[in-house]
Amino acid sequence: MKTNMPNTPINTLDSKVRINGISAEPPKGMTKARAEKRFAVLCRELFELQDAMWGARVNSVLVVLQGRDTAGKDGTIKHVAGCLNPRGVSVTSFGVPTTEEREHDFLWRVHKHTPRRGEFALFNRSHYEDVLVVRVHNLAPKKLWQQRYGHIRDFEALLAEHGTIVLKYFLHITRDEQKERLLEREKESKTAWKLNPNDWKERDHWDEYTAAYEDAISKTAAPHAPWIIVPANSKWYRNLVVAESIVDALRDHHKNWDKTLEEMGKAGRAGLAAYRSGIKRKTAG
Ligand code: ATP
Repeated sequence: MKTNMPNTPINTLDSKVRINGISAEPPKGMTKARAEKRFAVLCRELFELQDAMWGARVNSVLVVLQGRDTAGKDGTIKHVAGCLNPRGVSVTSFGVPTTEEREHDFLWRVHKHTPRRGEFALFNRSHYEDVLVVRVHNLAPKKLWQQRYGHIRDFEALLAEHGTIVLKYFLHITRDEQKERLLEREKESKTAWKLNPNDWKERDHWDEYTAAYEDAISKTAAPHAPWIIVPANSKWYRNLVVAESIVDALRDHHKNWDKTLEEMGKAGRAGLAAYRSGIKRKTAG
């Protein structure tokens, strides 16, 4: 059973994205039970795909998770990473840059966490903060952050050229949903440690962030680095959309990985046969 996904990847430059026009709710007819059942199926497929990718060492995957506070970046990572063999996964969170990071170009701290062939890298926030929070809070001159869209396009094109499958997600929640989640966090002693007055302050900039996200998405969407806007008011639907789109993107490569693995297998067998016949010759001689 494949679910009907309203959230087609955005993969062309200057696509007109209007976040407010996109529902943050699951589509009608979708239930938690259906979504979780489908997620479990995808989870198994993802594990198999990762295994083939790991062996073939032709591609890697970079999953970029962006979204407002409480949008569920951590929760998504927990669920997706839970499907994968930890051997080939790295998770990196990008917070306020350190002095050393600030003294380098904005991609310096990011590039070194991109995945090597065969591996998955999951980013909780990313280089996009440099055209989001930096823009909203005037942390750099406009001229500087505006040039970054081009740098990001080139950077992601470079990664793709090297075989990295780049997938970028905007976890879309409503303002009301965020308020509820923040209040919930406050009530629960298990989650109260996450409280940060800044999360409430950032709500005052809601519309500025919306504009910044719309520009970031429309100025950096590409066939090799699509954006997926994820309706994220329901956690179970959010997880499903992310898993479904990763599996979709990886499936395209599966045949190629299998072919590479087959060739590697043939070469391995031939090597072993040569080794064995060498031993036979030695023992016969
Ligand atoms: P989460 O990222 O899951 O919401 P958090 O808010 O606790 O968790 P931290 O690791 O403390 O995360 O830091 C995230 C903060 O760092 C965010 O407020 C984000 O806007 C800020 N940040 C990230 N990158 C940059 C950047 N390049 N410049 C300035 N601030 C940044």
